[in-house]
Amino acid sequence: MALYSISKLNTYENCPRQYAFRYIEKPPLEEFEGIEAFMGLRVHETLEKLYKDIKLCKIPSPDELFGFYNDIWAKNYHDKIHIVKQGYTSENYRAVGEKAIREYYAHYHPFEDGKSIGLEVPISFKFDEGSDFTMRGFIDRLMYKGDGRYEIHDYKTSGTLPLHKHFDEDRQLALYNLGLKKLYPDAEDIELVWHYLVFDKEFRSRRTNEQLAGLADQISSLIGVVEGDREFNPSISNLCEWCDYKSICPAWNHITKTESLSPREFKDEDGVKLVDTYVRICERQNLLKAREQRVKDLLIEYSLKKNTTRINGTTHIANMVRDQDVTFPSPENPERGELESLIRNEGKWDELSQLATSTLKSGYKKRKWPSEFMAKLQRFAIGKVSIRPRLTRKRSDNER
Ligand code: SF4
Repeated sequence: MALYSISKLNTYENCPRQYAFRYIEKPPLEEFEGIEAFMGLRVHETLEKLYKDIKLCKIPSPDELFGFYNDIWAKNYHDKIHIVKQGYTSENYRAVGEKAIREYYAHYHPFEDGKSIGLEVPISFKFDEGSDFTMRGFIDRLMYKGDGRYEIHDYKTSGTLPLHKHFDEDRQLALYNLGLKKLYPDAEDIELVWHYLVFDKEFRSRRTNEQLAGLADQISSLIGVVEGDREFNPSISNLCEWCDYKSICPAWNHITKTESLSPREFKDEDGVKLVDTYVRICERQNLLKAREQRVKDLLIEYSLKKNTTRINGTTHIANMVRDQDVTFPSPENPERGELESLIRNEGKWDELSQLATSTLKSGYKKRKWPSEFMAKLQRFAIGKVSIRPRLTRKRSDNER
């Protein structure tokens, strides 16, 4: 039975290749941990301790809490922790976490805004009985406010604050909302609460039943795309800097390998030589294309000025061909409907309409339709892989 979580699906959407490395191929790697994830984990553990103590009728003092945080920071710190951002040390990150906890404590003390009924609550459920995958996740803190009212709290230690609309569209807590409704039938009113701890900001949102049904459909079709993917191509983004698989990723392995070469070795490396030759050819072609267009324009100008349709050259004659073109209303044009009705009424529709193969191809690749229809289409879909070079200009010396 396949298991999916929102973070697993987010990984796929950010980069299918990273998804394949992490969840399918699992190559042995030297394990690194990002400092941001390390700090986030320690802050989560500290808030978990806070609410565990509160459950046992004990509110720890701020000093006790900071002592706990600093203690687990020191105990868990290891030399495989990776700091990507230049100019910052682990101490900077430790201090950010401590400040976040301090502000949270001051903001919510004495913590009497409801009953915390679960910490790190595992959620695991199917959208429906026939579903062949299970969704799962963990709720940081689940609160009961009485009369069927619940709150799902999530702690974030991200250094960026999303725009407000993000909270009305976020899938993670909405998915927990769906799961909670299945697991707690008395849950009539569920509020989603995000704590952006670094900014001491709280955001709230709710989902309607229609929105939750839409989310389930969206996730099911995304899982269809994941399960239909046979390529798992890399998708380059800023996140590559934090990716555990960068050294073995096909999008980066040649760049990483050649970065360590001397300037001489770099110039002589076969791949580098091929790219440099290809760039020179493309630049020449572009220059020629621009010159070709310029000369074409001059020939048209000449033919009009001299009122001639055939211009003599040494080995060729340029025939100035005049095409009479015609256009019909585009799909956005209000007259388009009228045109289509005319064609149908005149019985010419079958002759003039045809299957929109590019729309069909794009829908098939995105697995846009129900699986039954997709399975029937599969018989006609001929898979073809083509590879072509597409040049991108380097932005910095790092990519040399
Ligand atoms: S390095 Fe970038 S492109 Fe490669 S797997 Fe990681 S995220 Fe994807």
